[in-house]
Amino acid sequence: MDVRELQSINLAQILQEPGTAEADGVIRESITAGEDVLPLQGDAEWSVTVTSAGEEFWLSGEVHGTTMMECRRCLKPTPQPVNAYFQHLLEFHPEVETLTLVQNENDEDIYHFGEPDLDLSFFIAQAFSLAMPFTALCDESCKGLCPVCGADLNVADCGHVQGDAVPAALAELGKFLDEV
Ligand SMILES: [Zn+2]
Ligand SMILES: [Zn+2]
Repeated sequence: MDVRELQSINLAQILQEPGTAEADGVIRESITAGEDVLPLQGDAEWSVTVTSAGEEFWLSGEVHGTTMMECRRCLKPTPQPVNAYFQHLLEFHPEVETLTLVQNENDEDIYHFGEPDLDLSFFIAQAFSLAMPFTALCDESCKGLCPVCGADLNVADCGHVQGDAVPAALAELGKFLDEV
């Protein structure tokens, strides 16, 4: 069976009568979250369940994948496993053209949608990007880049940095700043 790459769920049935709809699939290569393109290592897998609750619908889902982030010290692409879980309240309004976030009288966030075939890419990408760490480290002991010549100190010893000593150029800068 082909793996489903569409990120959507069809709610036509539960718009007719109370019930539950389920969908799952995979995302290949990257996840686009607003302006950000988050590269993936392997496929990300998602699943979503939508259950009718009176006039509203409860959407709950999860997405699991590994994204590549730059190591904050040496900038090397570093795999970061991401496990994201999300829940949203939805309401069907046929006149709505695009998914719209509104607040109801109880100050709850509700998404209004107008198509029975609900596009899930926004929910999946939002949850995924929120679950990512702010920064990544390729290794706890990553030595980073030489502040003088930019060499990756994990792979080359350019001779500018001796142990934990402050590089000469930075020491000079420190002195200069003290005198200003
Ligand atoms: Zn690193
Ligand atoms: Zn250097």
